[in-house]
Amino acid sequence: MTSGVTVLPRAERRTAALARAVEEGLLGPQAPVVGLLDVDGVLAAVDALNGAFEGPAPVLHTFAAKACGLVPVLRLLADAGMGCEVASPGELEQALAAGFGYDRLVFDSPAKTAGELEFALAHGIAVNLDNFQELARADRLLAGREASGPLGIRVNPQVGAGAIGAMSTATATSKFGVALRDPGAADAVVEAFERRPWLDRLHAHVGSQGCPPPLVAEGLRATYELAERINERVGRAQVTGIDIGGGLPVNFGDEEDRPTYADYAAGLRAAVPGLFDGRYALVTEFGRSLLAKSGTIGTVVEYTKSAGGRRIAITHAGAQVATRTVFMPGSWPLRVGVFDPAGRPKEGPAETVDIAGPCCFAGDLTAAGAELPAVEPGDVVALYDTGAYYFSTHFSYNSLPRPAVYGYRTGSDGRPRFALVRAAQSVREVVEESGLAQADSLVALRRSE
Ligand SMILES: *Cc1c(COP(=O)(O)O)cnc(C)c1O
Repeated sequence: MTSGVTVLPRAERRTAALARAVEEGLLGPQAPVVGLLDVDGVLAAVDALNGAFEGPAPVLHTFAAKACGLVPVLRLLADAGMGCEVASPGELEQALAAGFGYDRLVFDSPAKTAGELEFALAHGIAVNLDNFQELARADRLLAGREASGPLGIRVNPQVGAGAIGAMSTATATSKFGVALRDPGAADAVVEAFERRPWLDRLHAHVGSQGCPPPLVAEGLRATYELAERINERVGRAQVTGIDIGGGLPVNFGDEEDRPTYADYAAGLRAAVPGLFDGRYALVTEFGRSLLAKSGTIGTVVEYTKSAGGRRIAITHAGAQVATRTVFMPGSWPLRVGVFDPAGRPKEGPAETVDIAGPCCFAGDLTAAGAELPAVEPGDVVALYDTGAYYFSTHFSYNSLPRPAVYGYRTGSDGRPRFALVRAAQSVREVVEESGLAQADSLVALRRSE
């Protein structure tokens, strides 16, 4: 732990935070859903990441902003020494607002506009170009000048899919990067580097949740071998950096961090030793694995009922905060806990219950057939391991507002202290962003001749 004081284990910190959030009214009838982020857990993950990659190769660990683009979270990570991977104008502005210097950013996106690319090149932001058309665009923008920041090409090593198709970025037909195994593609990348002495990086992000680390390592070995081939061909160390992406899977099944960053780095070192010998500067882009297990969604049970013999608890957390879990429950199951109205863990014999959200479609369940102590109205339900991609990636179904997010730290006295990360969206704000200022526009159009 970075704080140097005795810290409770993560699950105990979380339990204390839930009770305290209820006590302080951060979670309750006025705020029936809330996101809670364990700051000590996040910092411990950063430490574990740094430790796993220690060695002769310089490493820039960037955080994939899409996993949690909340400015105070990004600033915490900047303060902890990280960089940031961004893939849209919104993420870029969030990262700049969080205080990341241009030299701590990596700009990935398969759809960068000319304007976005020009901005990145002008400010020395590292860019990973996705395809040859984008490379030609960079040629035109640079017009013979050299880019002031690192400039790389993203490759798709086409090593195959993991367990979740939508998360697999290295299938034969994935939309990302230059597909290396396609006829002539690898040669074309080598030639592109030969003709542009300012290209100096290769990038691969082989997969996210569901991709086993050995598959990722195989993709990164192909990327490393391509870098070696380029450098051999041009007769100098032109490729100076390899961006190995993110994608460490998270264990959503129990409390343990598994695999760890140390496991991942050890496997990669064994598969691609040359990557770590100091000839290449490394960039990583982890998202989910840095935050997932430090986040919890707390929600109040509004009603309980029974249908066809199945118990159902209706809460305020559904597809608007747990979008993937609701639409793809087989791929994205969550652990669920139940607490009494004071936020204390409930005990008692388990019952089979569906945990439902507030959205108006039947499939809006965050857990189906969970075995939990009897759930009653006023209880609190916790959705665990939701620190990445959940409360930060809102889906505006039913015009449900974005919930508040708080960070917490638990002192050695076991008492959590909270800091607001994002205020809850008000109903007024929901209406305003729904075209309120243009309320008359369609009626006026109808009346006009
Ligand atoms: C989403 C993404 C990441 C982060 O993936 P995680 O699975 O959250 O670690 C990194 N790099 C790129 C290019 C991505 O699209």
